[in-house]
Amino acid sequence: MLKAPTSPAPELVPVAPEKRVSKGNLLLESLPDADRLKLIGDRPPVDLAYSEEMNQPGDRIRHVYFPIDSFISLITPGIGRAQLEIGLVGNEGMLGVPLLLGVNVTPLRALVQGAGHAWRVDAATFTREIERNPATRAALNRYLYVFLSQLMQTATCTRFHLVEARLARWLLMTRDRAHSSQFHVTHEFLAYMLGVRRVGVTSAASALQRRKLIRYSRGDLSVLDVRGLERAACPCYAIDKKIYSRILVKKVAAAAGSSTTGAALLAA
Ligand SMILES: [Zn+2]
Repeated sequence: MLKAPTSPAPELVPVAPEKRVSKGNLLLESLPDADRLKLIGDRPPVDLAYSEEMNQPGDRIRHVYFPIDSFISLITPGIGRAQLEIGLVGNEGMLGVPLLLGVNVTPLRALVQGAGHAWRVDAATFTREIERNPATRAALNRYLYVFLSQLMQTATCTRFHLVEARLARWLLMTRDRAHSSQFHVTHEFLAYMLGVRRVGVTSAASALQRRKLIRYSRGDLSVLDVRGLERAACPCYAIDKKIYSRILVKKVAAAAGSSTTGAALLAA
């Protein structure tokens, strides 16, 4: 006689594995093949390790990185815990935007938040190519605009939006760049995201967990309800997506001859 299956408690239901594979960097894909090759050459992508520190504020920029399936947190310099994540770079963007402005020093701390691959271009090659090729510079400048918009939005967000809503925003941004609803994020990173102490992190994460929007245990985070998390997020998430879509996705899609390439990154 067959035993009746027992239903697990709702909070223990495993989340179906979901991994949207990133095939490349969307910014680089927006460039014509010949121009992209001049930048990255025939070298293979490099590996970025979780928690690897890419640079400290004031460091000279030696390389530009174009993440493929990795993503990098940009954190303001601060003293002790007074540090705040103000940007997140995944396969929609690049690390090293000051070079586009002719500055070879970075003002931010950059930490790998998602391990994976990235294309790496040395600063001299990058600078030479954007000086020689106005089309390459124009394509990358569109990203610079999106990047600056994200920074400005974060300034407003940090001042006016509630911690729980801000956490929902950053988790959605992380999910987009991780290409997965399951990713690793430590308390330290959550504190950078929110600019609050550990107790504030625990409280905001617990609130989202009670609403069954996420599950968070020992750094392993699962987004259980994307639509619900979007509703819980402050408007900044939707504003960022809209700017990204208007400035970059259409251009990338047109360059790639596809209407879905760019949208794949930010597909909810
Ligand atoms: Zn906000």
